[in-house]
Amino acid sequence: MNTSPTSSLICAPITEARADLFLAASEEASRISDAVELRLDYLPDESLPQSLAELRSRVVQINKPLILTFRPREQGGKRNLTLQDRRDFWRGLAPEITNAIAFADFELDLVESFAGEQPPVPWDKVICSWHNFAETPHDLIARYERMAATSAAVVKIATQANRIGDCLRVFELIEHAQGKKPVIALAMGLPGLMTRALALSRGAMLTFGSLRRGAESAAGQPTVAELRDLYRVKELSRESMILGIIGDPVGHSRSPLMHNAALKTLNRDGVYLPFEVDDIDSFARDFVHPKTKKLGWNLRGLSVTIPHKLAIIPHLDHVDATARAIGAVNTVVIEGDELRGYNTDVIGAMKPLDELIDVKNARVAVIGAGGSARAICYGLNERGAEVTIYARDVQKAQPLADEFKARTSPLESFNGEADVVINCTPIGMRGHSEGQSPIKAESLKNVKLVYDLIYTPEETALLRDAKQACCQTLGGLAMLVGQAAEQFGLWTGLEAPVDVMWRAASLQARTSPPTQTPAAD
Ligand code: NAP
Repeated sequence: MNTSPTSSLICAPITEARADLFLAASEEASRISDAVELRLDYLPDESLPQSLAELRSRVVQINKPLILTFRPREQGGKRNLTLQDRRDFWRGLAPEITNAIAFADFELDLVESFAGEQPPVPWDKVICSWHNFAETPHDLIARYERMAATSAAVVKIATQANRIGDCLRVFELIEHAQGKKPVIALAMGLPGLMTRALALSRGAMLTFGSLRRGAESAAGQPTVAELRDLYRVKELSRESMILGIIGDPVGHSRSPLMHNAALKTLNRDGVYLPFEVDDIDSFARDFVHPKTKKLGWNLRGLSVTIPHKLAIIPHLDHVDATARAIGAVNTVVIEGDELRGYNTDVIGAMKPLDELIDVKNARVAVIGAGGSARAICYGLNERGAEVTIYARDVQKAQPLADEFKARTSPLESFNGEADVVINCTPIGMRGHSEGQSPIKAESLKNVKLVYDLIYTPEETALLRDAKQACCQTLGGLAMLVGQAAEQFGLWTGLEAPVDVMWRAASLQARTSPPTQTPAAD
């Protein structure tokens, strides 16, 4: 029997286009989610009658609240349907189905077309929905009021987030609806992810999660497993600690896996989210700084990645000495009314190296002269190493060398004259030049230790060559986890569970990043 829905539900939409898979997926979804949305519009004409017949006989076996949706293409569905087609469809639905479902999703125009009539599904089972795929307009509250004034029981508004600032309006809407008609509100697209992850904690009735990657019914939709196990959305409240990473893009980041695993292991009431931020100034003002933020949330800290490591600095009240010297902030801590900036890349990169070798007076070859080389050169200079920067463009590398008392040399000139080699280029990285090494294998004969900052793959061609030449090796996961563990300590005051974070990062390093799909909830 389909139990009556309450609130705080993770709902899995079924987007199978094959009749034989549709109900099987529904049953699978009912095992892992709190509610199941049957997207009947995904079924082609030839499959729909068979699916409805099967649904009629098996609907009672799906023991989770069921939502039925039959969406026209222009409103984000998969079918060309006129208003009359939709009216006929709902009027023709078998009573076994309408009795068993918890809700039917009627688009606003359909709801309005049934005004003054006996609807085909009782009004207390009707979700009145409205979608906007172009933007998140400014009049969401007026739109909600119009929809709430209909006889439908629940209002659903889903809009496209073109930038993260659009999420503010969705949260305002959820706030506005408290104590009124239940609301489902979310922003589609990756910039809208925070609305999907935080909606339940702020009083929305439901959030959508796909059954698996590739089965999303809308862009930016996480999986049920991510919502439940990674972001733990059902355990969050308005008071929960919020952490996250700001960058553009951020979809590839391993940080949510590491930090959420740490929060879960230490049983902390909090979540770490990816924030796709294009405009750092408005994000810092509207979401972050305690004196100006427009969103009432318990944001406590941020990781900062490309392209905002420099641009965040004017928004900070304090910047620590290392971050100042490197000219880049990768960590923000929100303390009272102030923002403090740190750089944990140096300690994250150097700690694992310090555990293997004392670099004082050691000859260190740094390959590359970009952002990570800067953190490495700072750490090496602090420790008194003799550093040579090998770069394809020596002139470009010279300011870095001057700043940290290093020499420069063309990359192709490297001949093995070093105790330690550190690769700070992307050469060898998956999706860039996997299988290649920035230096020749023969040049590693007399090198003691090779450190490759790349972490995908975990073992690069350079590290393989180094092992064959009997060098000690260190991979980039050590730095990735090391800098994250330092951040976690700064935000929480707790010792980070490094092993747990390592496993989480390592697992992600072997899987692919999330995808965007151009559809709608
Ligand atoms: P970056 O600022 O873009 O610097 C890359 C450096 O590599 C630049 O000096 C660049 O030279 C050089 N380079 C790029 N392609 C090259 C090529 N084909 N041949 C020779 N030199 C080349 O990047 P980054 O932030 O320093 O990151 C570098 C790598 O480190 C990344 O790919 C990443 O895998 C790794 N990394 C790891 C961690 C970690 O936590 N483990 C953290 C940060 C970075 P030009 O200036 O001439 O372009």
